[in-house]
Amino acid sequence: MGWDFETEPDFQAKLDWADAFVTEHVEPLDLIWPGLEFTPLDDTRRKAIDPLKTQVREQGLWATHLGPELGGVGYGQLKLSLLNEILGRSQWAPIVFGCQAPDTGNAEIIAHYGTPEQKERYLRPLLDGEIFSCYSMTEPQGGADPATFTTQAVKDGEEWVINGWKFFSSNAKTASFFIVMVVTNPDVDVYRGTSMFLVPADTPGVNIVRNVGLGAEEGDHGSHALIHYENVRVPQAAMLGGEGQAFAIAQTRLGGGRIHHAMRTIGLAQSAIDMMCERALSRSTAGSLLADKQFVQGYIADSYAQLKQFRLLVLYTAWSIDKHNDYRKVRKDIAAIKVLMPGVLHDIAWRAMQIHGALGISSEMPFSRMIIGAGVMGLADGPTEVHKVTVAKQVLRDYRPTEDMWPTRHIPKLRDAAREKYAEFLEHEVGNL
Ligand SMILES: Cc1cc2nc3c(=O)[nH]c(=O)nc-3n(C[C@H](O)[C@H](O)[C@H](O)COP(=O)(O)OP(=O)(O)OC[C@H]3O[C@@H](n4cnc5c(N)ncnc54)[C@H](O)[C@@H]3O)c2cc1C
Repeated sequence: MGWDFETEPDFQAKLDWADAFVTEHVEPLDLIWPGLEFTPLDDTRRKAIDPLKTQVREQGLWATHLGPELGGVGYGQLKLSLLNEILGRSQWAPIVFGCQAPDTGNAEIIAHYGTPEQKERYLRPLLDGEIFSCYSMTEPQGGADPATFTTQAVKDGEEWVINGWKFFSSNAKTASFFIVMVVTNPDVDVYRGTSMFLVPADTPGVNIVRNVGLGAEEGDHGSHALIHYENVRVPQAAMLGGEGQAFAIAQTRLGGGRIHHAMRTIGLAQSAIDMMCERALSRSTAGSLLADKQFVQGYIADSYAQLKQFRLLVLYTAWSIDKHNDYRKVRKDIAAIKVLMPGVLHDIAWRAMQIHGALGISSEMPFSRMIIGAGVMGLADGPTEVHKVTVAKQVLRDYRPTEDMWPTRHIPKLRDAAREKYAEFLEHEVGNL
């Protein structure tokens, strides 16, 4: 019987270390260097951050999801999940622990599909945390439906020439290279006619038009680029995987990315519950503590139950990924998690904000950022509606239509069958029926 909800003592000790380490050394980075997580380190930041990364490595917690051949310890997704719950409450923590999105997913596909030269050039420094990467797929006219993508690469001698527009390419402004999804064969459907290229950021023709912000981030201060690829020339050797393979590659990447976001979301939502409870126990109004008001108790109970349910599904799915070693086999549950994630974070952050009154909605508390974050979770890596469709299709695969006029569980039909089965015991009741 293998169902066990306990963490091994050795790993629990590592989690306890990570918890204290993040609180003491990493969360302060969010306050002194906000928004600089994906900017290559300058000398000052390097002096502060490299020693933290060294401590993480000494604990064996650097990039734990990767196998030893890639510099990790191969702990797998379940352990990463428990660790990410701690890291999720800090912007800087995934960087310090070598497991930040989108670089984890990007590293994963280069590890899977890259040539030895591509791995040497991009994967090694990416895994070492020395450079950052950008995944450039969504286009201004549509992200949810790849059939609308028009950015194209045309072969010209030994080179490919890329032209088109991409939108919301995260971290483009600080990335060293972009993974760009482009149409290479417009004569077949998009799932067979699209390929990926590794494009160095300084390639002529890669024009970042503006860096779009989230919520109240203004002007050009965001991290999600509108990019005009204008006659960008790359060699054949820049293609990642084979021609027409972009969608197979994207699936490898997105499965992991989605559940990693969910793991971190647990940590973020838990921190909102922690703040909610502390406030409820600290603030009195109308003659009693907030914690004594039934409405507030309802907020706390609903938040606790919602997060607990979500967490169990995330941990179960992480366990399933480790068991099958294949994201595609757990597609249904990854999609279900993706569907639940924005609602869980939104509801809990909203209640925590409400309990804090005016302070809660101010920029002196983190709740409005969390609520925007919930919106992000409903879009990044695909909108909730699309994932609901995936869940439904996967669920329906386990069912067959009935040939009968009535449903299989139609009570009169079942009752007749039951009476026939137990007829000998019912004979004496006939007169009463
Ligand atoms: C913070 C953030 C970071 C991102 N980072 C990246 C990145 O690094 N690289 C990248 O390439 N992209 C990135 N994206 C883009 C993201 O993948 C897209 O936003 C997403 O795929 C949706 O595309 P769209 O925004 O064009 O919305 P649309 O495709 O226009 O969809 C808009 C809405 O229409 C509805 N809808 C869409 N399809 C369906 C359907 N089939 N059934 C029912 N309703 C539907 C949904 O409500 C959906 O939200 C990021 C997005 C965010 C918010």
